Amino acid sequence: MIRVGTGYDSHRFVEGAPLILGGVAIPHTHGLAGHSDADAVGHALIDALLGAAAMGDIGKLFPDTDPAYKGADSMELLADVVSRLREAGWAMAQCDITVIAERPKMAPHIDAIRERIAAVMACSMSSVSVKAKTNEGMGFIGRGEGLAVMAVATIIAA
Ligand code: MG
Repeated sequence: MIRVGTGYDSHRFVEGAPLILGGVAIPHTHGLAGHSDADAVGHALIDALLGAAAMGDIGKLFPDTDPAYKGADSMELLADVVSRLREAGWAMAQCDITVIAERPKMAPHIDAIRERIAAVMACSMSSVSVKAKTNEGMGFIGRGEGLAVMAVATIIAA
């Protein structure tokens, strides 16, 4: 059995916050605002995995009204989701993630993000694709107000 899920997340840029994407700290003038560490890559991937397994979404599992998740490390949440999927009989086959951001340049950080996600998920780096693009100056992303991430994940019966 094979299933596919999609995930999307966006966060607003703020000054004075760290920019964490896929568990990697990326040097930038701005970071992302959020209840957790605002790791939009982690959040979109978690939603893609949960969606594939029809196990809800990140907001249902880790509510942002719960102080337990204040400043939470999204890679810990991802590891938790991987074990929940494993308990339900699922393993990830691959994921494909697209970061849409006007700045910073993502290319130098892509492989570090792939490596970190693969380590957290205990899977091969070749199963983790991360791509990036700008929004050609359009909309909230183009104005640099925030960034967005899309993710697709395939899971297989383990
Ligand atoms: Mg989020």
